[in-house]
Amino acid sequence: MGLYTEEHNIFRRTFKRFLEKEIQPHLEEWEEKRLVPAWFFTKMGEQGYLAPWIEEKYGGAEVGFEYSGIILNEISKLDVGLGTIICVHSDIVPAYVASYGTEEQKEKWLPGASSGELVYAVAMTEPNAGSDLQAITSTAVKKGDTYVINGTKTFITNGMNAGITVVAAKTDPKAIPPFKGVSLFVVEDGTPGFIKSRKLDKVGIHNNDTAELVFEDCVIPAANLIGEEGKGFFYMMQKLQQERLVCAMVAQGGAERILEETVNYAKSRKAFGVSIGNLQHNLFKLAEMATEVELGRTFLEDLLADHISGKDVVTKVSMAKYWISEMVNHIAYHGLQIHGGYGYMEEYPIARFFRDVRSLTIVAGTTEVMKLIIGRNLLRD
Ligand SMILES: Cc1cc2nc3c(=O)[nH]c(=O)nc-3n(C[C@H](O)[C@H](O)[C@H](O)COP(=O)(O)OP(=O)(O)OC[C@H]3O[C@@H](n4cnc5c(N)ncnc54)[C@H](O)[C@@H]3O)c2cc1C
Repeated sequence: MGLYTEEHNIFRRTFKRFLEKEIQPHLEEWEEKRLVPAWFFTKMGEQGYLAPWIEEKYGGAEVGFEYSGIILNEISKLDVGLGTIICVHSDIVPAYVASYGTEEQKEKWLPGASSGELVYAVAMTEPNAGSDLQAITSTAVKKGDTYVINGTKTFITNGMNAGITVVAAKTDPKAIPPFKGVSLFVVEDGTPGFIKSRKLDKVGIHNNDTAELVFEDCVIPAANLIGEEGKGFFYMMQKLQQERLVCAMVAQGGAERILEETVNYAKSRKAFGVSIGNLQHNLFKLAEMATEVELGRTFLEDLLADHISGKDVVTKVSMAKYWISEMVNHIAYHGLQIHGGYGYMEEYPIARFFRDVRSLTIVAGTTEVMKLIIGRNLLRD
């Protein structure tokens, strides 16, 4: 039996109807405004579509992670930008609080993740440190019962909308090896010295806000430290597995939609007296695209089952993140080509998907970094 039961299928259909009715009509407006409104989160939250894995006592639905998989798949089929927003808000950031937070932190912050009243972001990357996270230079200095944070973060998804941001900073900048000096903190919106300095202009995923954040003598309560000092890098490496898994899910959703759009177009468009899908080159291209999409889907379903059962998935997650995010770009290139000139026009969804999926080989660890992890694990085993 596969991972999904009839109950999951009913949930999927209900969520799909919700997206069509409540979200789809606003896509264009949000794309133009380059931001989703706060009600997007609360509307999703009201229906139980945000972070459904969170325990009931903290406001969640406490269901299996496969429900996150369904939500990400369907929302990314609608729009990859929204898929990215939701995976960060629901499945990436609150996991730090849920896994390493104190009881008080969980009670304070997790209910807002489920209701959508508190949008979540995570700030690791800095202008001079992305793949090499140990090299971050933001600092958090303990002063009495506070920490004072200084530094700049960039490319932060949900940065503008966020009510809380999990921030990586060095509590011991001289630590050797350097990763031992990294700690994680929660910084709440409105904290003096926390400046949402710039909404960045991106190639795609326009509805998704990506920000630069500045910390200038930003004083936070010492109680906002997540887990223990010096363990931040370890926590990130643990949680990056789920982060990469959900990014692969977003990519897979995008690929499934691109295939569907392309097949439909290839059936309806005529050239030389036949549907263009019947021209042998296009027919073979469609066959290749469908095969790759199916391989991605089955690999991901298997990986999700392993992740849920608590297996060590580091190598497989890296494979999925690398292969599926490259695959969706490949599919988008050929899907757009099959659409001909219309594929380059904004009125066709393929144009937006083509732009949007480009981000996926970079976010949450680049393709090259994924290959490093896979290769090193192969040599180690
Ligand atoms: C749309 C978007 C959203 C993002 N959201 C977030 C977010 O919410 N929070 C956050 O903290 N960050 C976020 N990021 C940042 C993202 O995680 C980084 O961009 C990514 O990790 C790469 O880091 P970098 O941009 O500094 O590139 P670099 O690390 O400078 O890499 C540049 C190039 O060199 C390659 N490279 C680097 N090291 C190696 C190596 N050892 N071997 C081979 N090749 C290598 C890379 O693959 C890449 O091709 C986001 C980025 C984007 C584009």
